[in-house]
Amino acid sequence: MIKHQLLDRGIKDKKVIAAMRKIPRHLFIEEDLTNMAYDDHPLPIGEGQTISQPYMVAAMTEELDLKKKDRALEIGTGSGYQTAILAEICKEVYTIERIKSLSHKAEETLKRLGYRNIYFKVDDGTVGWDKHSPFDKILVTAGAPNIPDTLFNQLREKGKMIIPIGDRFSQILTLIEKINNSLKKRALFECIFVPLIGERGWQDGA
Ligand code: SAH
Repeated sequence: MIKHQLLDRGIKDKKVIAAMRKIPRHLFIEEDLTNMAYDDHPLPIGEGQTISQPYMVAAMTEELDLKKKDRALEIGTGSGYQTAILAEICKEVYTIERIKSLSHKAEETLKRLGYRNIYFKVDDGTVGWDKHSPFDKILVTAGAPNIPDTLFNQLREKGKMIIPIGDRFSQILTLIEKINNSLKKRALFECIFVPLIGERGWQDGA
């Protein structure tokens, strides 16, 4: 996985590569699928949701340019795999998941692996986590119709946010930076994520 899916495709950030080498991805996948845990595609994690493809996790994390002192907000805990990658690299990770069973399972897995710098919440992540803002980095792992202003407001000056923006079934991975309190946007590449459902996202069942 590391060589063919990450290094050969241009992932360079040493901290990202080390984290992906260290974290046992198969522990985040349902038992009957563990033989596919390191394959080059997303996998189902229950409740109609998916764990992202390894390359996607690496590319999103690399674009955030994470520092050791960073406090990061993640929207869409899912399996908790991406959460673990963030927690390996930065100081604190605040992660929100709207589906209770997924959040609880991820928390159990991450506690078992010994992480003590992750804070979990079951809620609509499109409104962010104001109490702990501003964040240095924000990572959204579900596809949004547009950039939730709530999340942009909770980003620190010079902070970065990565978010898939588009329609319900295909999006453009977008990097946002807050410079002089205004929004700088860069389109990265096409992607397909499950929908971000909530007050500033898509309506459930629509
Ligand atoms: N990072 C995860 C990817 C999970 S898929 C992993 O590596 O496993 C995206 C997740 O976003 C799903 O679990 C979905 O339930 C969640 N989600 C969708 N809308 C949300 C919202 N408004 N707030 C929080 N989580 C949301």
